Amino acid sequence: MNELAETLENVFGFYSFRPGQEEIINHLMQKKKLLAVMPTGAGKSLCFQLPALLFENQTIVVSPLLALMDDQVIGLKDLGVKAERVHSGMTELKREQVWEDFKNKKIKILYISPESLMRNEMISAIKPLNISMFVVDEAHCISKWGSDFRREYELLKELQNHFPEAVISAFTATADEETRSDINNKLTNGKGKIFLYGFNRPNLSLAVQQKTKNWKAQLFEFLENRKNQSGIVYCLSQKLTEQCSEFLKSEGFNAYPFHAGLDTQVKIETQNKFMTEDNVVVCATIAFGMGIDKADVRYIVHISLPSSMEAFYQEIGRAGRDGLEADTLLIFGLQDLFQRKRFIDMSDADDSFKIKEHKRLDALIAYCDSATCRRQTLLSYFKETCETCGKCDNCLNPPQMIEGTEYAQMVLSAVYRTGQYFGSGHIVDILRGVLSDKVKAKGHDTIKTFGVGETATADFWKIFIRQMVSANYLLINIQSYGALQITPKGEMVLRGEDEYFYRKIEFNQPKKEKRIKPETIDTETLDDEKELFSALKSKRLELARKRRVPAYIIFPDATLHQMLLHKPQTIGEMGKLNGVGPQKLEKYGEAFLSIITNEKYSND
Ligand code: ADP
Ligand code: MG
Ligand code: ZN
Repeated sequence: MNELAETLENVFGFYSFRPGQEEIINHLMQKKKLLAVMPTGAGKSLCFQLPALLFENQTIVVSPLLALMDDQVIGLKDLGVKAERVHSGMTELKREQVWEDFKNKKIKILYISPESLMRNEMISAIKPLNISMFVVDEAHCISKWGSDFRREYELLKELQNHFPEAVISAFTATADEETRSDINNKLTNGKGKIFLYGFNRPNLSLAVQQKTKNWKAQLFEFLENRKNQSGIVYCLSQKLTEQCSEFLKSEGFNAYPFHAGLDTQVKIETQNKFMTEDNVVVCATIAFGMGIDKADVRYIVHISLPSSMEAFYQEIGRAGRDGLEADTLLIFGLQDLFQRKRFIDMSDADDSFKIKEHKRLDALIAYCDSATCRRQTLLSYFKETCETCGKCDNCLNPPQMIEGTEYAQMVLSAVYRTGQYFGSGHIVDILRGVLSDKVKAKGHDTIKTFGVGETATADFWKIFIRQMVSANYLLINIQSYGALQITPKGEMVLRGEDEYFYRKIEFNQPKKEKRIKPETIDTETLDDEKELFSALKSKRLELARKRRVPAYIIFPDATLHQMLLHKPQTIGEMGKLNGVGPQKLEKYGEAFLSIITNEKYSND
C-alpha cells in the first residue's frame, strides 16, 4: 500500500479519497503551490492535513474564524494528530505554551489567524523553523472580488516573500474566475496550479414550493418524518425564526431560534446543542451557518427567499457534508421577492453593484420557477452541466405547462385599469371581487375587471401573478412601494398578440406520495433497526458530552450506518469499517462493540 493510502486509512480511517483529493495531495507532495476550489463538504481539510502529516517539517494553517479553527483542531487531536491553534480567544499563557511547543516541534499542524501570523516578530520567530507548508483556508477572503473580503487576509500577500522555500496552498469553496486569479496572484504570484472541482452535490435533493397562506402546514409536511434528524430552517426575519421555532416546538421538535438579536450566551448554547446533540433543528437567519461545520445535517429548508443564487447554494451546502442523502426545500412567495428587491434598493451600494445584485436575485427566481431539472438550472448558473438528476421535484413530478392567456389578460387589465399603482394584494382583491376598504375607497369595484376571477382562490392568483413577474410579463416597482407594472412582453399579451403559459399551480391536493429515493444504506437499515441505531446514537451522545465535542467527531452518521450494516462482532472487525481508524478504534471501539453484540439488539 502506498504512503498516502496508508495514512488515509490509519490516521483518518477512510478507505478511499473523494473526487479531487488524491490529485491535490499528490501535487502538494511534490512541494508545488496550488489553489483548490472545491464545494463545501467536498473534503478540503483532508487535502492539506494529510500531506502536512507526511512532510518533514511543520505546517501552518491560516483560517478566518475562531470556531472553525477550534473544530478542526479538536477533530485532528481526536485522530491522534499533534495539532494546535493560536488565536485571540485564548489566554496569553496558553498561547505562549502553544508557541513554545511549536518551536520545539512538538506540534505538527498549527492553526493561526492571519493577523497573528503576519506580525513582524512572528515572522522572524517562524523563519528558522523551515516550515514545510502554509495553508490559506477560506482563501476567497483575500480578494475584494470574493464574497467575504477580510482586510487581515490582505497581509498574506507577503507570505511568499518571507518564505520562498515553503509550499503555499490555498483552499476555497466559492471563487469565480476573477476571484481565482486574484487569490492566485496574491498568494503565489500567479504560479500556483488551479484545481477546480464541481459544484454538483449529488447527495442533495432539491425542491421548491410556492408559499401558501399556511406556511406552517407546508413546513410540517416536509418535517413530519424528520424528528430524528438535524436540520436548519432559514428565515428572513428574527421574528420569523421565533415563530417558526415556537411552532416546531409545539409539534414536538427539538427546535431553537437563532439570530443576531439574541444574547451571545444563548447563541453559544444553541450552537453547542446543534453541534453536539442529535435531532436538533435551528430556525435561523443567515447569522447562523458560517463556521458551523456539522457533517450530518440532513435537511435545509428556506421558508424565505435567500438573497441570491450564491447565498442559496452556500446555505444548502451545509447539508449532507458526510456524503449521505440530504434534502432541501425552498418555500417562497411574492412578498419575499418584493422584500429582497427592496433590501437591494435601499442599501448604500452604488448602482452598478445594485444591478449585479438584482441579477443574482433574478437568477434565483428563475431557478424557483424553472420547469426543468433543478440541478441543471442550479449548475448552469455556475457554468456547469449535468444529466437530469432524477430526484428533484421537477424530475419526479414534471410540472405541467398550461395555456393561461385569458387569466393573464385579466391580471394585466386589472393592473392597467388601476393605473399601475397597486401591489399584488390589491389586484387579487379586485380580481376576486372582494369589497375591501381599499377597493371601496378607490372605487375599484366599478371597473370592468372587478370580480372576473372570483372562481379561483386568492392563493392561486398570488402565485399566478408571481409567475408573471418572474417570467417578466409584469415587474415590481420598488420605488412605488411594490406596484405592479406591465412590461413590453405583458403588453403583447394584453393586446392579444401573444399567448401566455404558466406552470400548473397545485396546492389543494395533499402531496403525500412517497419520494423515490435511490438505494442507500440509510433508508432501509434505519427502518429495520431503529432500536440499535438509537442505542448507538445515545452512546455517541454520552461520549460526546463527556468529551465536550460534537457528536459526529466521535463517529459521523455514515460510520454508525457502517456498524448497522456490518454488525462487527470483534474489535478487529470493527477496525475494518470505513470511518474507524486506529485511534478511534482504541478510544471508542469497545463502547460501540458492546452495544452491537449485546443480545437485546442482535438479530437472532
Ligand atoms: P470542506 O471542503 O467544506 O472544508 P471538510 O474538509 O470539512 O469539507 O470535510 C467534510 C466532511 O467530509 C468531513 O466530515 C470529513 O471527515 C469528510 N471526508 C473528507 N474526506 C473524506 C474521505 N476521503 N472519505 C470520507 N469522508 C471524508
Ligand atoms: Mg473547510
Ligand atoms: Zn432533477
